[in-house]
Amino acid sequence: MNEGYLIKKFGNKYFIRIDKNHEIVSTLKEISEKKKIRLGVVSGIGAIKSCVLGFFNPETKEYSEKTFSEYMEITSLTGNITRKEKNTYLHLHLNAAGSDNKTIGGHLVKAVISATSEIVIEEVRGKVNRKFSEEIGLNLIEM
Ligand code: FE
Repeated sequence: MNEGYLIKKFGNKYFIRIDKNHEIVSTLKEISEKKKIRLGVVSGIGAIKSCVLGFFNPETKEYSEKTFSEYMEITSLTGNITRKEKNTYLHLHLNAAGSDNKTIGGHLVKAVISATSEIVIEEVRGKVNRKFSEEIGLNLIEM
């Protein structure tokens, strides 16, 4: 059955292909939960047709979001997988370039694949939790 992705593990690294019309963040969350990846590093490239990017304002402690709907190359997908209150927590950032080769970037909320993608999750042995900081307004990593 096609779940919208292919995945294969080599050592502590998962090579992942998320397919056309599938969304990156929800797919990576599903994979992390299925494979029980509690701590990991994410990196990837690919092609998207839309994305929603966030920007955190440290003064208001709020995110603003912008939607971009055009064909773009992912020039960098980067981030990590941690835990918050026993749940999988993904923190991803995205840079992407359209036909003018100029990049946009930000905190990745969602992105839909237009052609294909090549993503690697490096699983790390260990556990890092997150806790909400009233002072900062974000879920900070705790060690
Ligand atoms: Fe962020």
